[in-house]
Amino acid sequence: MTASVFPSPAKRAETDIAAIVVAAGRGTRMAHAGAPMAAKQYRLLADRSVLARTLGAMLASPLITRLIVVIGAEDMVQYEAVLAEIVPGLRNRLLPPVIGGTTRQASVRAGLDALASAPPELVLVHDAARPFVTPELIERVVAATRDHGAAIPGVPVTDTIKQVDAQDCVVATPDRARLRAVQTPQGFAYPLLVAAHAGDQPGETATDDAALVEALGMPVVVVMGDSMNIKLTTQADFDAAEQRLSPALITRIGQGYDVHAFGPGNQVWLGGVRIAHDNGVIAHSDGDVILHALTDAVLGALADGDIGTHFPPSEPQWRGASSDQFLSYACERVRARGGVIDHLDSTLISESPRIGPHREAIVARIAQIAGLKASAVSIKATTSEKLGFTGRREGLAAMAIATIRLPAS
Ligand code: MG
Repeated sequence: MTASVFPSPAKRAETDIAAIVVAAGRGTRMAHAGAPMAAKQYRLLADRSVLARTLGAMLASPLITRLIVVIGAEDMVQYEAVLAEIVPGLRNRLLPPVIGGTTRQASVRAGLDALASAPPELVLVHDAARPFVTPELIERVVAATRDHGAAIPGVPVTDTIKQVDAQDCVVATPDRARLRAVQTPQGFAYPLLVAAHAGDQPGETATDDAALVEALGMPVVVVMGDSMNIKLTTQADFDAAEQRLSPALITRIGQGYDVHAFGPGNQVWLGGVRIAHDNGVIAHSDGDVILHALTDAVLGALADGDIGTHFPPSEPQWRGASSDQFLSYACERVRARGGVIDHLDSTLISESPRIGPHREAIVARIAQIAGLKASAVSIKATTSEKLGFTGRREGLAAMAIATIRLPAS
């Protein structure tokens, strides 16, 4: 390696390090995969644009003293929207954007030109489509760039790589142990990268900046990259990234139990379905033990009181109330917290009525009330072998379990 002409460790804190984020691409590889879509750096990833995520991640490193974004000529409005996503405390290190060229190489050169009036000591070049860059990775690249003049992050290759000819015939199998899949940010002494770009080859085919420095015959050191620092390229990349960013959900289970005594009447409500019977139930509402038990199960999973807390029997508005509103209310409280209801299960305990003939209708009705698929609802029934109050046909009881997932808080 060449003797270091770069700042000594003692002066590291004062090193002027500029970053260039290349965001002028049109994302043609994604467009090929399906319908036309916005350039990938402006697509939303878990409700935030990729570019805002990338800029936020770069600016999270205190080593970067200023950052310039190279954008497409037609992208100013989209870029302004990205700026609004970035907190003011980070925005103050952003320089005005510059317009890129038709190739990546031309865009990097535009960024270098914009820095020429106040040249930094080091420059980092980063892809807009790599939002998962970390301060630790930036620090590794910067440290090696200080020592060697050019440093890039790379990860060992796990697949065996074949070199093929124009007919897709293998011509070589390089030794995998000596291969690295390289990433960005790539770090360079500013004058070195300017010199590398000054000697532009016709065609401008370099896919990264290090290749231009290599072409000068200058050393480029590879530091350990980060396997999470992926470049979002395909729809599958976006799907996987979305998954990574979605909040972790934890499973919670709640149980409920309800009883109503038989009384005068000729029908009972069970699971939101009216069933003819030789008596009714004594209740403030419609006395639907299955819906009441399920409501308490859902509220229990939320650790959010019980049906009496939310619908006090002392309030006349619930007199004769249809119990579907209790269960749908509880289910909405799950969704309002970003949760998901996975499953509702209830057991009716009674000698009569038998619910077998009504089971399908009850499952369908509960699924409708709770906003679930029928496959997420289970209704069972048992007698109590003529024992106890249900065995003596004095009333009905129901038990219920709700399984939900809530964001870990
Ligand atoms: Mg009740």
